[in-house]
Amino acid sequence: MEDCIFCKIIKNEIPSRKVYEDDEVVAFLDLTQVTKGHTLVVPKKHVADIYEYDEELAAQTFSRIPKIARGLRDSDPSIKGMNILNNNGELAYQSVFHSHIHLIPRYTETDTFS
Ligand code: ADP
Repeated sequence: MEDCIFCKIIKNEIPSRKVYEDDEVVAFLDLTQVTKGHTLVVPKKHVADIYEYDEELAAQTFSRIPKIARGLRDSDPSIKGMNILNNNGELAYQSVFHSHIHLIPRYTETDTFS
């Protein structure tokens, strides 16, 4: 997809801070950093939202999440929890229409993200 910002990140046409990559999936730090280490897990194949995954792509993408989450947790002992979420549609606050899963580390009860 020519105008897709995440496709451009996947092709290294714009900079990102990648924390994981394999043939099917990439994970990079979210620009906004809702909390420190906020990461997006993204299938390299362009699918707009959850409705466009077939079983193979879903297995490839979602099966990587535990490993990437462990990597984040193990890199920072102050991470005490993690929210994992996926927005679909504008009404659900999706703003980038290349499907992605947010990994949001939690540090204290007073993290601003809720
Ligand atoms: P929301 O904006 O409500 O979180 P999404 O679930 O679609 O909606 O998330 C898109 C995410 O992509 C946002 O958290 C945003 O900060 C992030 N983002 C947008 N552009 C970039 C970029 N160039 N590099 C990294 N993250 C980006």
